[in-house]
Amino acid sequence: MWTFLLVAAALILAALHFRWWQVFRGKDGELRRLRGALAEAEERHLQAAFQARAQIQTLFNSMVEGVILLDSAGRVQLVNQSVERQFRLNLDVRGLTIVEALRHPELAALVERLSSTRQVLSCEIELNGGNRRFIEVNAASVLDREGVPRGAILVFHDLTRIRQLENNRREFVANVSHELRTPLSLIKGYAETLLGGAKDDPDHSVRFLQKIEVHANRLTNLIEDLLTISRLESGQVDLKLGALDLRSFAARLIEEFQERAARRNVALVNEVPSSLRARADRDRLQQVFFNLLDNAIKYGRPGGCVVLRGRDGNGDKVQLCVADDGPGIPAEARERIFERFYRLDKARSRDTGGTGLGLAIVKHIVQSHGGEVWVESVPGRGASFFFTLPAAPS
Ligand code: ADP
Repeated sequence: MWTFLLVAAALILAALHFRWWQVFRGKDGELRRLRGALAEAEERHLQAAFQARAQIQTLFNSMVEGVILLDSAGRVQLVNQSVERQFRLNLDVRGLTIVEALRHPELAALVERLSSTRQVLSCEIELNGGNRRFIEVNAASVLDREGVPRGAILVFHDLTRIRQLENNRREFVANVSHELRTPLSLIKGYAETLLGGAKDDPDHSVRFLQKIEVHANRLTNLIEDLLTISRLESGQVDLKLGALDLRSFAARLIEEFQERAARRNVALVNEVPSSLRARADRDRLQQVFFNLLDNAIKYGRPGGCVVLRGRDGNGDKVQLCVADDGPGIPAEARERIFERFYRLDKARSRDTGGTGLGLAIVKHIVQSHGGEVWVESVPGRGASFFFTLPAAPS
């Protein structure tokens, strides 16, 4: 009987244990499944967060404007490549404050002011490393769903080019006004003198009328040059391209300039090879040569020599040159003489009817043909103006 009871108890215990083990194993499996699903969800979440961050970073990096994102403690969380370029950053600034990162206290003040407003705030900073640069900074708070500030975003817009253009425009207007005013006031002065009685003195009246004519011509030249520059700069000039034989082109120009050159006893020499041909607009190319030859005769040595040269430059380009043996151009002025109204000797340029726009016109015309223009000079031994044009098959 006891034996039977013991065996029955053992069987019941074994059955209970088996059931408990089954339940436990089931629960354990579920737990493991849950844990796996959790881990997967976490991984997915991390991946999504990583991807979102990478997308934001790519988006920021593709922006021309610089962007910096600050966290609620005012530390840099994200910075795009434009900021790195603008501020020439060569270390990772994430985690630093804005002043530590960019070394501009104005920016800290701007971020500080954000705490008391929901508006976009702006300031302008000047960067002095090498060339002066001007950056406009716009800053705004980043708010959470409840409208509580959780950081700030700063956008950096480089204004340097706009400032340069503004400056150029201002300078240009000042120069044009000055250039117009000078001959105008001379014309007015001579006219007043004539009306004041000089008209009755035949000697003076003719001389003054001649002066009036000279300055009126100067005004006409200036206005023509200004219109040319404006048309070239606004891209309104349609080039009528054709194949030009450069040697005969140069020969015709030399003929036209012979009288002017003779007045200064300057010899004109054509050394352009006969096989050389360019694809260019005849009238515009004439304007280029006209300005360069006129300058070479005007500023070159009286009794000197002006040579026109040319050569083939790697098949697809031809190189032309107008060289004189005059005083030349100092190194520091070689870039600047192609700027509008830049002159080495203002009085000399004006006395000879110069407008200060000739080389700027040359540069525009050559560039509109896809060419380049530059000057080489040994002071005291002359200046050589080179330019390139697309070659035409011979
Ligand atoms: P401009 O009407 O004064 O001649 P340009 O633009 O043609 O204006 O030339 C700008 C300046 O460059 C001139 O005023 C002159 O000082 C200088 N320059 C140009 N060509 C020569 C040259 N061949 N030799 C020396 N100086 C030159």
